[in-house]
Amino acid sequence: MSSLRPSPITPTVDFDRDGVQHGFLRLPYSRDDSAWGSVMIPICVIRNGSGPSALLTGGNHGDEYEGPLALYDLARTLDPKHVSGTVIIVPAMNYPAFRAGTRTSPIDKGNLNRSFPGRPDGTVTEKIADYFQRELLPRTDIALDFHSGGKTLDFVPFCAAHIRPDKVLEAKGFAAVEAFSAPWSMKMLEIDAVGMFDTAAEEMGKLFITTELGGGGTSRAETVRIARRGVLNVLRHGGIVSGAVEMQPTRWLDMPSGDCFSFAEDDGMIETLIDLSEPVEEGQVLARIHSIGRTGPAPQEIRARMGGMLAARHFPGLVKAGDCTAVVAVLVD
Ligand SMILES: [Zn+2]
Repeated sequence: MSSLRPSPITPTVDFDRDGVQHGFLRLPYSRDDSAWGSVMIPICVIRNGSGPSALLTGGNHGDEYEGPLALYDLARTLDPKHVSGTVIIVPAMNYPAFRAGTRTSPIDKGNLNRSFPGRPDGTVTEKIADYFQRELLPRTDIALDFHSGGKTLDFVPFCAAHIRPDKVLEAKGFAAVEAFSAPWSMKMLEIDAVGMFDTAAEEMGKLFITTELGGGGTSRAETVRIARRGVLNVLRHGGIVSGAVEMQPTRWLDMPSGDCFSFAEDDGMIETLIDLSEPVEEGQVLARIHSIGRTGPAPQEIRARMGGMLAARHFPGLVKAGDCTAVVAVLVD
């Protein structure tokens, strides 16, 4: 069985050694410009004795920047004196995608967050997933995976955990989200949970939280501040880093059903009629899609299928049939 094969990835760090180590996950990748070459995924391990272990990841999608900005910074600055336990930082999980500034890998078009549990004998992206699945997740107590909207979506900044069958783990997840202290906190519903890192971690019974901190293929001063504060807060909350959690006010949102999502049914140019965080009524027109092939046709209207507030929207000015155009979430206060 292929799952019994060892991972081809070799870490240059020792996960059981105290102190700070900056190294790589080295993944052999033979190609035209390097016959015996490798993909070198940066990794940092900061350990101080036994204790809980956190796995902090960014760049699962290569065009999302708050996570990498917060995590390269944390790797450079976190003093092991303030740590009890282990902090494993992989700021750019899908490193080939991150280098290319694209959501998926330029090598195999792999979307890392749809590739779990991965394969040790699969594509480059599947080999990365397999290493997280079999080597990193099992040694983790809490995983924080940073996302933003990438080039095609924009979100109100939130930290999120999923509704889970295990209510004890669910409550721990929501407590960690609250500690992250983003302006918004989300009980998150996934459009397509199969193959996600989230799903892999949760099926292993791990505490797992994630974020959506903005988007558009860039970052903003505010969202990067939220990411930096949030990651330290989660480590403090977990007792892995010393010091008090810097709590900030947060408002809880819920995504109660698939009615949260609206999709385009035509190609065209999108006109947003309301902005992120504004209130939405059921049936309200959120956006219009204007035909661009000719003058004359009336625009397609995108209507909210439920009330709440606008939590995310399509970012680029042009849209294709099937694109997610808007996400509505419900305020739970
Ligand atoms: Zn993402």
